[in-house]
Amino acid sequence: MKFRELSVYFDKISQNSSRLEITRILAELFKKLTTDEIEKVVYLLQGKVAPEYEKIEFGLSEKLIIKSIVLALNIEREYFEKEYKKIGDLGETVEKFKTEIFSFEESNPEIKEIYDNFYKIAISSGEGSQELKLGILSHMIRQVDPLSARFLVRIPTGNIRMGFSDMTILDAYSWMIKKDKSLRPIIEKAYHVRPELGYIGKVLKEKGIEVIKKIEPKVFTPIIMMRAERLSSAKEILKQIGRCFVEPKFDGFRLQVHYKKGFNPEIKLFSRSLEDVSFMYPDIIEAVKKQVKASEMIFEGEAVGYDYSIGKFLPFQETVQRKRKYQIEEMSKKIPLKFFVFELLYKDGKSFINEPFIKRRKELEKSIITKKNLKEETILIADEQIINEEKKLEELFDKAVKENLEGIMAKKIDGVYKPGAREWNWIKYKKSYSSKIKDTIDCLVMGYDLGKGKRADFGIGAFLVGVYDEKNNRFLTVAKIGTGLTDEEWKQLKIKSSKFKVQKKPDNYLVDKTMESDIWLKPSIIVEIRADEITKSPVHTAGLALRFPRLERFRDDKNISDITTFEELKKLIIR
Ligand code: ATP
Repeated sequence: MKFRELSVYFDKISQNSSRLEITRILAELFKKLTTDEIEKVVYLLQGKVAPEYEKIEFGLSEKLIIKSIVLALNIEREYFEKEYKKIGDLGETVEKFKTEIFSFEESNPEIKEIYDNFYKIAISSGEGSQELKLGILSHMIRQVDPLSARFLVRIPTGNIRMGFSDMTILDAYSWMIKKDKSLRPIIEKAYHVRPELGYIGKVLKEKGIEVIKKIEPKVFTPIIMMRAERLSSAKEILKQIGRCFVEPKFDGFRLQVHYKKGFNPEIKLFSRSLEDVSFMYPDIIEAVKKQVKASEMIFEGEAVGYDYSIGKFLPFQETVQRKRKYQIEEMSKKIPLKFFVFELLYKDGKSFINEPFIKRRKELEKSIITKKNLKEETILIADEQIINEEKKLEELFDKAVKENLEGIMAKKIDGVYKPGAREWNWIKYKKSYSSKIKDTIDCLVMGYDLGKGKRADFGIGAFLVGVYDEKNNRFLTVAKIGTGLTDEEWKQLKIKSSKFKVQKKPDNYLVDKTMESDIWLKPSIIVEIRADEITKSPVHTAGLALRFPRLERFRDDKNISDITTFEELKKLIIR
């Protein structure tokens, strides 16, 4: 397909706000594309050239894009910028100029050519790369027709966003085959194992739904991690899953390790949000080389800081300082990590995700070399016991809390690993659950007020937080938080916010007039909030409000999709 035809689809989608209609248009588009094209188009639709987890950026500033445009169109920069200011959208401004300036060079390129060029732009770095990027982009701008130029320049600016998520694309895949959404659960399951939207589309088109059902993990493609349900007593846990495995709940951060043996073993570490964080933890990488016994393996665990001088685990706030881009060696000495592994997902060509927990655990024990020596080793296997008695379970919980741990994790003996799902196969029981809410809440920071009094120095006052209403794809407010943060936390919030300010309230924020913010932020910053109670509220659009909300911590390790949903919030209320 030509890029011109794709741009007509871009245009149709951008004019539509109904999710169902967008799904239909996407399905029609996907039907027309070849298997190679579908893979590329899915990424271009999202302003990318690769799956989200690969984090490949174009590295094109707005300044460089404008430079490419004026070079391509052979016009004065000031003239272009004046028009751009009037129109307010880079894409539409280029379209206008292209319509007015007759060009002989338009060559109506194929999608593949445009994609390959964008890919080149994205992977070029270092000396001379800016010139190369500029050259390629201006060449493409010259090549395409005015409508295509509008979308072409929107792709690298990140403004291509058409108002739909990965889930709409999965729905559209289902529509492409069945003209309804009925295949979405099967496709989504495959996507959780291989979160590469383009690849899933390609396999579906080429091989069909039966092959999608059997999709297996692949080393170095992160698997979306399984989550735990929550309960607040041993009694409830045993009632829910019966005799079960119980492990300590370590309060650090989760890592998924991908390993391939070799003279130079290849190792990648992924965070919960599927970010490649390998470079941050050289100590864990070294330990994986020494302690893993397999040719290929995918496994998971929790990394937690350890204080050798007192033989205790460090609190989360200290452990989390290891998540950084600089001074890595220095910090790895200051805050050594212990990595407690608890899950095996794949080993030597065999997927373990559909195996019962007991079998995964047995194989995991065979695959890690350990003397169970906390002082000498970095990788350990999480301790576990089979428990059938309430009293025994409560004792383990108390013991864990005394050891500075968060609580315990109960695991269903024959439970499978369900990528991306929160189910009863794992149940967390945390010390905080003694309050009237069963868990802390992961909220989105939607906006903030400019500070008054002392807060004016920080330039930030109370901030508005909300949860996600999945059904209607919008955010609902639950609290405005103005106290309880340390000076350092206020400063951090201000710095984080500076990157995400937007001119007006995002369309999918539902906010009561009395709760409007001075500054709005696009969905980016996630905070973990602890509250004493959830009460009914006439002013918060969730209809519920958090009583005495406190910032527990920033959750940079989480994605927008991890924000507590409205449905989950309702379930947290203890009646
Ligand atoms: P979510 O419930 O969405 O995963 P969260 O990060 O707030 O969110 P917790 O409520 O702390 O998570 O509970 C689940 C997390 O507990 C896991 O993601 C993992 O990082 C951690 N964890 C610690 N110890 C264990 C263990 N033994 N088994 C499984 N997970 C563990």
